[in-house]
Amino acid sequence: MKKWPLPNLDGGKIRINLDWSERHWFFKEDDYFIKDRPLIFDLPKGWGNNWPDLPNPDEDPSEFWLDRISLSSPRNPCSKETLLGYYMSWHIVGVSFFNENGRQPRNGEELKLYNDSLPKENRFGIHICSRSIEKYIEKFSTEGLEPSQIPMYLEYCTFLTMIYVIAHEWGHYRSEVLSFQISNLVKSISGEPNNRLSPSYLSYFVYKKEYPDTNFEEVFAEWASLKLGIFNYYMKKPAFAASIPNWPQVEATVKFMLSQAISRPNRIRPYSDIRFWIDFDSITRDVVMKRLSENKPSINRSVNDNVLIDEIKSFKKGKIIDVLMHNQMQFSQDHQFNGIVKSAPLAYPYEPDSSFYHFGDDECLVAHKPSNSENFLQIGNPAYSDPSERFNSRVLKVIESLKENNSSNAVLPIRVFSEMLPLDPIYFHV
Ligand SMILES: [Zn+2]
Repeated sequence: MKKWPLPNLDGGKIRINLDWSERHWFFKEDDYFIKDRPLIFDLPKGWGNNWPDLPNPDEDPSEFWLDRISLSSPRNPCSKETLLGYYMSWHIVGVSFFNENGRQPRNGEELKLYNDSLPKENRFGIHICSRSIEKYIEKFSTEGLEPSQIPMYLEYCTFLTMIYVIAHEWGHYRSEVLSFQISNLVKSISGEPNNRLSPSYLSYFVYKKEYPDTNFEEVFAEWASLKLGIFNYYMKKPAFAASIPNWPQVEATVKFMLSQAISRPNRIRPYSDIRFWIDFDSITRDVVMKRLSENKPSINRSVNDNVLIDEIKSFKKGKIIDVLMHNQMQFSQDHQFNGIVKSAPLAYPYEPDSSFYHFGDDECLVAHKPSNSENFLQIGNPAYSDPSERFNSRVLKVIESLKENNSSNAVLPIRVFSEMLPLDPIYFHV
């Protein structure tokens, strides 16, 4: 039988210490934003249209109160058109169990059974709001497009939006996996479960609610959306791709337009802070876009190679996930406080090099070729209650085109940590 890891809820103490000194970086508001510039390619008209502002890939954190979470009651988060999707963590499912039963679950198996008994929208995993994605796509300008290309344009934008949301939610999943990984690592080094270095994902989660504008986990999730989503070389191309002239250049251009929507300064924080962490000018410069249009595997390095963490010397070798790890460590009980890193690089701790823990290679670096393995994200058939909804769904059409022949699942090249924290197929809601 599989062992299900449990959230670290022992004692339930959540301590937040926010007494740190800030060091300010001065920047102009439009620094690092990709400028409008003529595209390098000779393209069919309309494919380079601007994207409307992106809706949220998360539930509003102000609606979450740890002591009130009770997931047995059905909800309908996707009824909000402003919500593209969300990630439900095991930690929150664990809190809900505690609130509803007045005790911790006896073991992982009991928590798993509890999770399976919850309404689908409240279960652990990645959740996608299909109708919100489709409503968003309906706002796109199709000006300049040849009428025969409009359905393909909208389908490709649907594909990219869906991949953007899935990879963003995966970033939150990765963050939760990280909290288990650090716990295990600390246990194996110190031989004791409650070492002062134990990370606390829940405390960090509470911080997110208290300070929603500066939480670094969102920046990491946006980074994941670029690295594992939009710029993921192994992502399967939609089925219609071959029928558009200059398809590779078209694809590069539409991705560029999405990158622009992601890094827009008027987007709400902390999402828009991603532009302070990744050099968007650099990842969308001509040579990279050319690599993208020529479908070169080296494109997978582009997002990694353009992360702006110059101030921290150890990050020449380190990774953006190390910042996340650092932050989760800062919330440990009795840990000497160095200050957490906020989303915009406005407040690194003093002597940042001394405060980061780097535990070696991370699986985020490499995107993997998809296969029918449990180690990759799988998309099954979305369950639509209304058959006409199913018939008309652009999201469903895109999912179908991602499937291999004779396969009931689409498999995305985004890694799942099945030993540490298995991730069920993604949930789609209407
Ligand atoms: Zn998020």
